[in-house]
Amino acid sequence: MTYDIAIIGGGMAGASLALALKDLPLSIALVEAVPYDSAAQPAFDARAIALAAGSQRILHTMGVWDAMAARGVTAIEHIHVSERGGFGTTRLDAVEEQVSALGYVVEGRVIGAALTDALAQCSNIDLLCPAELTAVQMAGDAADIQLSHGGAARSLRARLLVAADGGRSTVRELIGANTWELDYGQTAVIATVATDRPHGNIAYERFTDTGPLALLPCDPPADGDTALQGCRWSLVWTARDAQTDELLALSDAEFLQRLQQRFGYRAGRFLRTSGRHAYPLVLRFVREAAAERIAFVGNAAHAIHPVAGQGFNLGLRDVAALAQVISCAVARGEDIGSLAVLRDYAVWRRPDYLRTAAFTDGLVRTYSNDLPPLKLVRNLGLLALDALPPLKHLLARQSMGLNGHLPRLACGLKLQVTSDK
Ligand SMILES: Cc1cc2nc3c(=O)[nH]c(=O)nc-3n(C[C@H](O)[C@H](O)[C@H](O)COP(=O)(O)OP(=O)(O)OC[C@H]3O[C@@H](n4cnc5c(N)ncnc54)[C@H](O)[C@@H]3O)c2cc1C
Repeated sequence: MTYDIAIIGGGMAGASLALALKDLPLSIALVEAVPYDSAAQPAFDARAIALAAGSQRILHTMGVWDAMAARGVTAIEHIHVSERGGFGTTRLDAVEEQVSALGYVVEGRVIGAALTDALAQCSNIDLLCPAELTAVQMAGDAADIQLSHGGAARSLRARLLVAADGGRSTVRELIGANTWELDYGQTAVIATVATDRPHGNIAYERFTDTGPLALLPCDPPADGDTALQGCRWSLVWTARDAQTDELLALSDAEFLQRLQQRFGYRAGRFLRTSGRHAYPLVLRFVREAAAERIAFVGNAAHAIHPVAGQGFNLGLRDVAALAQVISCAVARGEDIGSLAVLRDYAVWRRPDYLRTAAFTDGLVRTYSNDLPPLKLVRNLGLLALDALPPLKHLLARQSMGLNGHLPRLACGLKLQVTSDK
């Protein structure tokens, strides 16, 4: 079978890309290894994702936001940044930024349900699932792809192969893509917690000597436990690798007590916690986001620290940019898998990768050194940032994913089969 595009990986990035392309005159195969209704599905798990305002706009223009909102999303109206044991704080505010929300917190399973329901409506997208990529070979005008589909071997050809198969990308491995990687020696422990005080739509980022702690307001989905409405949070607790096993082994009461001690009482008293899940953290980039016949999106292209919740937001901007480059190539009658077309995508994405990595990695490094003079400078920095509106505005634009050369979808404009980029 021959397709215009084969997308390997139907997680948040791969499924979003297929949907972004749904109105173009293209045949698309979306290859996903794990069934969406399986408990082992790795892409739409217990994580809650902070979607930046720019990402919400992309999803809205693609036509999937309303379905997510109906299932349950929580607006972030304020962001509060502080350091444990420090005096400096910075606050970002939606009203000051003249937006209705700085972003939204959405549970992974809500994102998954909205994307997969929308996929089921698309006649030009073949969802091959459970199907796993086993081999790939570039053959001049197409990529030859081998799959194990429901246990049987199957071959596909595609003019363009998109790697959306996540951090442990098989595509990257099979084609020997040049990759740069740094292990943070840190693990993110996530849980859903409840407090005795309403969240007030505030997201907290608190830096501690062992790593950042994020507390995101996260109301239960429409089909969830409404008793927790208004005082439920998604916690991302970054700890050094050596401390992770201990954190995971604590009883719920001990965990809540430890959290209270590290976070303080700004969000109230921690009363309940869900089970905990751990994610080891690395910084990783493919050297080139595209080559002849192939493009990388999402975590297959990059993995960054979850501080400031930027990973999927960066991936969604990949999706919006690649979809636009493809739509322009279709309009001009060009080969969508050619290097000339895909180089535009790689060049476009590079500044955003560098800016976002510098932002997140810079935060992690700045706050992981506990020398007293540095701590003083950091706290003065937070105070200064709070007092300087232009600087704060720049930080807010970066957090909202509204800096740099934005794709049409992030500007609220639909893709067109047009040659304007
Ligand atoms: C603790 C934590 C908190 C985070 N919080 C945020 C946040 O608040 N905001 C934010 O923007 N980002 C956040 N992120 C980042 C975000 O979760 C990721 O960027 C995003 O999930 C990556 O999606 P993806 O589709 O690229 O990859 P994945 O989710 O890894 O999906 C890859 C898919 O490919 C499939 N697959 C793999 N190999 C094959 C194969 N050989 N054949 C076929 N299919 C295959 C897998 O089954 C999977 O479904 C967070 C990350 C962590 C760890």
